[in-house]
Amino acid sequence: MPTRIGIAGAAGRMGRYLVEATVQNPELELTAAVDRPGSDFIGCDAGELAGQMRLGVPIQGALEPVLDRVDVLIDFTLPEATVAHARACGAAGVRMVIGTTGLSDEQKAEIAAVSARVGVVFAANYSVGVTLSLKLIDMAARVLGDDFDVEVVEAHHRHKIDAPSGTALRMGEVLADALGRDLKACAVYGREGRTGERDGRTIGFETIRGGDVVGDHTVMFLGLGERLEITHRASSRMTFAKGAARSAAWVHAKEGAGLFDMEDVLGLR
Ligand code: NAD
Repeated sequence: MPTRIGIAGAAGRMGRYLVEATVQNPELELTAAVDRPGSDFIGCDAGELAGQMRLGVPIQGALEPVLDRVDVLIDFTLPEATVAHARACGAAGVRMVIGTTGLSDEQKAEIAAVSARVGVVFAANYSVGVTLSLKLIDMAARVLGDDFDVEVVEAHHRHKIDAPSGTALRMGEVLADALGRDLKACAVYGREGRTGERDGRTIGFETIRGGDVVGDHTVMFLGLGERLEITHRASSRMTFAKGAARSAAWVHAKEGAGLFDMEDVLGLR
C-alpha cells in the first residue's frame, strides 16, 4: 500500500514541485491537496496545476475535512499555517514533513510538542547536498577552530519573505555547536557604518535577495594566509521536493513519535 500524502500549500512554488515529486515516487500516492482559504486555486486539480496529468485531487481550502485520507502531511506554507496544521495532525495522529522556514522559537516549540504525539520531519533544507554540507561544515569548524573567522552568505529569489534563510540559520547552529558558542549571543546580521574590528567569536550572516535564485549558501572560514569556502547551489526546487517526498515515505515507515530531520532520513546520525 503506498503512503497516502496530503500537501499543504499545494498551489505554491514548492507545492507544485511537491505534487510532481509525489506522483513520481512509487511509494507515495497523493490523496489530498490544501491551500489558503480563499485562494484562487481552490477547486483546481492539483496534478493539472503542477503541470502533470489530472489526478482527481482538487485543492481544498481547509485541512481538517481531508485528514482522514492522509498518512503524512507535507507542509510548505507559512509559519502560522504550519503550526495550525501541526496541531490538527497531532490530534488526528497524522505524521508530518515540514519545510516551512521562519518559525519563531515559540512556534518551533509547538512543533516539538506535536512531535511527542506523532512522527515529524522538520528540516530547513531537504536537499541531500545541503544535508551533507552540514556535516562538512561541522568537521571544518572543529578542525579550524577559533583561529578562523566564520561568515555565512546566502542568496535567494526576490519573493522570499524571511532572512537569513532557514538553511543559513541551521548552518549557523551547526557552526556554533562545533565551536562551543551560543548562536543567539554571537550572531551578527549584516554590517553597516563604523562597526569596529571584527570580534573573532562572532558568526556573521549576509543575505542577498533577487531574481530567481533557487538557493545558494556559502560558509567561509577566513584565516590568516588562507580561506576555505564550502558552497552549495540549488538549481531546481525539485531537489527539495524529492527530499521531502523521500522523508514522507521514511516517517510513515518509522515506528513511534519523535522530531527528525534530513540527517535522520539519510541515516547520517
Ligand atoms: P509560496 O508563497 O510560493 O507558497 C506557499 C503556499 O502556502 C501558497 O500557495 C499559499 O497560498 C499557501 N498557504 C498560505 N497559508 C496557507 C494555509 N493556511 N493553508 C494552506 N496553504 C496556505 O512559498 P514557497 O516558495 O513555496 O515556500 C514556502 C515555504 O517553504 C517557505 O517558508 C520557504 O522558505 C520554504 N522552503 C523550504 C525548503 C526546504 O527545503 N525546507 C525549500 C524551499 C522553500
